Amino acid sequence: MSTYLSTELRHRLLEADNRHCAYCHTSQANTGQPMTIDHIIPQTQGGETVFENLCFACRRCNEFKGSQVTAQDPLTDETIPLFHPRHNVWRDHFVWNPSGAELVGLTATGRATIVALNMNNPLIVAVRRRWVSVGWHPPQE
Ligand SMILES: [Zn+2]
Repeated sequence: MSTYLSTELRHRLLEADNRHCAYCHTSQANTGQPMTIDHIIPQTQGGETVFENLCFACRRCNEFKGSQVTAQDPLTDETIPLFHPRHNVWRDHFVWNPSGAELVGLTATGRATIVALNMNNPLIVAVRRRWVSVGWHPPQE
């Protein structure tokens, strides 16, 4: 879904998310596709089109997220709020594995978000491996 954003809001988002997906940190350059604008709380659940409820997301994360705001922690089966890019700090919830190709959840929110958004699907892991092999390092925060 395309969302009209003022130029000012778009620039603020670009600066905040540094042209990478606020969830999986894949950069726009690495996907070859423009980032989408994600409503962190979906519009269908009352989420507004304001900076505090918007982030850049790669097409894949945005599509897997859909209208979800919670997901199950694979470790405990508890229902947990998904990572909120404006309220949570990325590095508190996620870390790259030693190869730099897969994300590891540090918290229930991190684990649940990785599963819900399919952030380690084989296609993107293969892409990350190729980028890492040519010296790219994923952003840490
Ligand atoms: Zn993503």
